[in-house]
Amino acid sequence: SGPGSSGPIKISVFGTGYLGATHAVAMAELGFEVMGADTDQGKVDALAAGKVPFFEPGLDPLLEKHLATGRLTFTSDLAAAAAWGDVHFICVGTPQMKTSHAANLSYVESAATTIARNLTKDALIVGKSTVPVGTAARLREVIAAELPAGRKAELVWNPEFLREGKAVDDTLHPDRIVLGGTSAQAEATLREVYAGPIAEGTPVVVTDLPTAELVKVSANAFLATKISFINAISTVCEAAGADVTVLADALGHDVRIGRQFLNAGLGFGGGCLPKDIRALMHRANELGAYRASALLQQVDEINMGQRERVLDMAVEACGGSVLNHRIGVLGAAFKPDTDDVRDSPALNVAAALHLRGAQVTVFDPEAGDTARRSFPTLSYATSIQEAVEGTDVVLVLTEWDEFAKADAEKLAPLTSSPRVVDARGKLDPARWRAAGWEFAGLGRPAA
Ligand code: NAD
Repeated sequence: SGPGSSGPIKISVFGTGYLGATHAVAMAELGFEVMGADTDQGKVDALAAGKVPFFEPGLDPLLEKHLATGRLTFTSDLAAAAAWGDVHFICVGTPQMKTSHAANLSYVESAATTIARNLTKDALIVGKSTVPVGTAARLREVIAAELPAGRKAELVWNPEFLREGKAVDDTLHPDRIVLGGTSAQAEATLREVYAGPIAEGTPVVVTDLPTAELVKVSANAFLATKISFINAISTVCEAAGADVTVLADALGHDVRIGRQFLNAGLGFGGGCLPKDIRALMHRANELGAYRASALLQQVDEINMGQRERVLDMAVEACGGSVLNHRIGVLGAAFKPDTDDVRDSPALNVAAALHLRGAQVTVFDPEAGDTARRSFPTLSYATSIQEAVEGTDVVLVLTEWDEFAKADAEKLAPLTSSPRVVDARGKLDPARWRAAGWEFAGLGRPAA
């Protein structure tokens, strides 16, 4: 039972974006009564009507299922959700500040304030958002100051590691569950919430608040470092005539290294990795951990440099200038299996080419609409064929399977001249060259 009432645990989820919507649906799937609360009325209306406002494989059917079971509701009445729940998950955004590398914590603070102020019973508040180390301790003070007289609330941190594109599975079957700063009672409540995954053998790491906060950003920093490592090596490969994809396969056979996150290419983007490593950089500097900060600074610079390298390759493929050249861009999402274009390297390169005077046509299997919303001045195609038609060069900027499977022979005659730049190591150079394409790949030898 919940901390403030007898009966089954009622779970409220504050913030119903990529993380919160998935978490709310997954908690209903685990059998709890769930209320998702968001300040964005449009999002709340969509979810309440059974429509996930973004593309996430497998989420729609589970949302419909639990709207039907009646276990899952959505509201924009944050105070009502605070009054209703026993366990409150904070899943709001922590984007990068406009003016610095630091994380913007105003949404997290606002959610914690709203929850604390409107509690009608003792409660457990669980932070899931990714936050700089030290945030939770400060939020405890905020909460203590806001609690109605006589109410008790405990704040703990339970960072989320889900991947967009695999969010449902990652939430229901996580690699690990990290619980930070829990009392014995809070730990028991969360073990009840996660009883399903725990019964499957998911390891639970119980630790203090700062460690829990840091596990999350360190995981992202490590993944980002792995990508920037292989991208740095890819520049050496290019200069030396080596093939980074073969090299990565060979490295990956070493179980200490592993093959994942060793794809050289346009680099990482999205709503998490870039802002998380920058926030850690910023926080590490504040804490005097300058070497950690310097390492992450390099990781970020290498990553952003990949976008420049791909721009240079496009310029070269167009004979020295992209002005008035027609460029087909395959990919807008920051990675496949999502429609998320937040800090997308693909869209960033497409936009830069547009600003340099190229006529850019973008195709993405899922992210066309989100891309159009954030970059309306680009042209958008509804198929690979349409994006490739009449182009001087084609760029592959997101690693959708659909692009790897594309029929190079059928596409070649549609172009004004068949030139392709594979910025994701996704295409088979031999096949494309045999189909008449001039092929350039990051970290791949010339023909
Ligand atoms: P998002 O922008 O998709 O969703 C955030 C939601 O919070 C929005 O719908 C917004 O309207 C809502 N919101 C803002 N203030 C609110 C308030 N006071 N009360 C209620 N709702 C409020 O962001 P996201 O991708 O879901 O990320 C949320 C957090 O989860 C971030 O800290 C992120 O770093 C972390 N995270 C994200 C992922 C991921 O893959 N997206 C994975 C792990 C962790």
